[in-house]
This record gives sequence, structure tokens and C-alpha cells, in this order.
Amino acid sequence: MSADSPHLGILGGGQLAQMLALAALPLGVRVTVLEPDAQAPARLCATHLHAPYTDAAGLDALAGCDAVTLEFENVPVEALTALEGRVPVRPGRGLLERSKHRAREKEALREAGARTAPFVVIESESDLDGALERVGGQGILKTSELGYDGKGQARASDAAGLQSAWDELGRVPCVLEGLVKFGREVSLAVARGPDGALAFGPLIENVHRNGILRTSLFLEGDPHEAQAREIAGRVAQAWALEGLMTLEFFGLPGGELLVNEVAPRVHNSGHLTQDGGGVSQFEAQVRAVLGLPLSDWRPLHPCAMVNIVGVEDADGQALGPDWAGIDALAGTRLHLYHKAWRAGRKLGHVNLVTADEQTLRARLSQLETLIP
Ligand code: AMP
Repeated sequence: MSADSPHLGILGGGQLAQMLALAALPLGVRVTVLEPDAQAPARLCATHLHAPYTDAAGLDALAGCDAVTLEFENVPVEALTALEGRVPVRPGRGLLERSKHRAREKEALREAGARTAPFVVIESESDLDGALERVGGQGILKTSELGYDGKGQARASDAAGLQSAWDELGRVPCVLEGLVKFGREVSLAVARGPDGALAFGPLIENVHRNGILRTSLFLEGDPHEAQAREIAGRVAQAWALEGLMTLEFFGLPGGELLVNEVAPRVHNSGHLTQDGGGVSQFEAQVRAVLGLPLSDWRPLHPCAMVNIVGVEDADGQALGPDWAGIDALAGTRLHLYHKAWRAGRKLGHVNLVTADEQTLRARLSQLETLIP
């Protein structure tokens, strides 16, 4: 690493890159993003190479950084190949190829000793025969690639429904997962430095709406944190993680955690670490990727997050949050991504920090009424 000012490259320039850059700057780290969208959020706080991910000149510029990371998993493999041997890319290609492909990811999770929902890989019509029975009678068909925020998914509870779900998804390679009757959903991030040292983020409880994260909550003393750390550490070692990744879990009513999926990066649920008083997930990723000292990061106070997603009313008009109400509610911190409004699009989030759990729960209920 250069002695004076470390330089981090990021593939992708969306809100995660924006928040990574905002966390990097105070550490004395410069950031350059490669991102084809002229209006990408990270352009405001990083050097923006406005070019396709496979652009040779753009990749040459990233190759001159001290390390490269990414803010989304669907980076073209050519971009990663072009950087190989020139600059450390963290996480690396092997881990990305697993995490961006649901079937490979689930197989690799099981090899690492983590439990998942029952699943069957669907690659051709004949794979549909008997598949539902094998996952317990009810399932969710998910495209193996390019699915996010509940997109590329369809539920099925009988053979005809499964057939039409597969047709609806375009008959592409899929995974049929058994429907998990979870008690709650949680997530936990793990970082591993180039020296192999592990560090963990806090266990966070998540609530989704229409397949998109709505609310995240951190409270000290979650009884299942140790289990989540054990699983995350095991997967990070088995997959030779360099950098940071986040595991999403289904918490079964009996307490056991099944891994739903893995994001090879910071995660929407971890945004509350920005304002909880400790090191944020963004700083943690920057540190892990550049090989800077890093220990467990966790909020010092109870905290929560509510996402601001583009919502429209019955007439198709944008339905915005009650901004004044948010500002007036004690303990809120607003984070906007500078993105144009679109229905279903993540536009920002509000973090909420309080001194105690009871106040957090009361104010979170209030905050939820202010954000459609
Ligand atoms: P995913 O994109 O796989 O994270 O799915 C989005 C959301 O759909 C999850 O956070 C769950 O709320 C729900 N979901 C996904 N897979 C399952 C499953 N196998 N059983 C029950 N709910 C699921």
C-alpha cells in the first residue's frame, strides 16, 4: 500500500459505494469508482470513472489502486479477470462466483457446514417432476442468477403452480426452495483481512415488505448472535473470504439459523451501524479490503433503520415521507442517496438511535408511520 494516501477502487457506484466512500475519506483513503451510470450516487464523493465495467481504460485505472472491492455481485467476470494479478480484488472471483449463483451458493454453504432451506436445482422441465415433494410441498422458485429484493421469485404449492412459476420466470436455471416457516429474519456480517483475521458485525433483526427490506433493529444481547457468528466465521474460512460479506438467516422458532443468502459486501441491514456510535459496516469493509486494523464492529446504543423506498398512491403519484416529522423525532439521522424517484427504488434510509430499548421501540413505531 502506498505510504501516504491509500487508494481504494470500487466496481459499482450506487449508494453502497457512496457510503463506502463517505466512510473511507476520514481514514485518509481516496476512492475511485467504475460505474456506467452518469447519475450514480457515488459520483458526489469519489472520483467517478464514467464507463462500462469492462472498459479497458477504466480497469487500468482501478488496477493502479491499492485494492479493489465491489458494491454488487453481478460484476461481469471479464472485469474481474482483467484485474487479476494486477491488484488485489476483495472479495475475489471464486467467492463472487459462488455468491452470485443461488444453486452454487447453497451447495457451497452446505459444504462449509451451514444449514439452508431444503432445495432442488431446476435446470430443465424434467427437474420439475417431484421437486415440490422433495422440498416439503410448498416452495419458492428463484432464478439462480440476477435476483434481488424479491425479484426473480415465484411461490408454488402444487405441480401446476410450479410449472407456471417456471414459465413466468422465463424457464431459466432456478432453485426451488422449501418454504421456511421462520420466526424472524436476521443478518450478520463478517470480515476477513488479508492476514486471515476475522472480525464480526452485530446480529441485526430484519423485517421485509414486498420482498424489500423495510426495517432493521439492533439490540444488545441477542441470544442467537453466537450461533450466527459461528456459522459466518466457518463460511468465511471455508470460502477464503478477503474483505467483508453479509449472511442473511431465517431464524426458526426453535432458535436454529438457516442461511438464506450471502451478499459479498456491506448490506442494507447494516446501515444502522452508521449511527450506533461504533465503527460502521462501511468502515469495516474499507479496513478489511485495505488490510487496515479491524476488530469486531458494533453499535454502542440500541438502534434501528427504516428504508425509504419509492411508493406511489392509487393514482400513481409519488407518496413521500413526512420529512418534518422525521426531523422532529429525536434520535433520527437521515441518509439520502441522491437518486431520482422511481416506484420500488431504494432512495434513502433513516437511522434511529436511542439510549434504551423501550424508547427505541416506541420511537420506531412512530418513525414507521412517517415513512410510507
Ligand atoms: P431473498 O431475495 O431470497 O432474500 O428473498 C426475499 C425475502 O423473501 C426473504 O427475506 C424472505 O422474507 C422471503 N423468502 C425468501 N425465501 C424464502 C423461503 N425459502 N421461505 C420463506 N420465505 C422466503
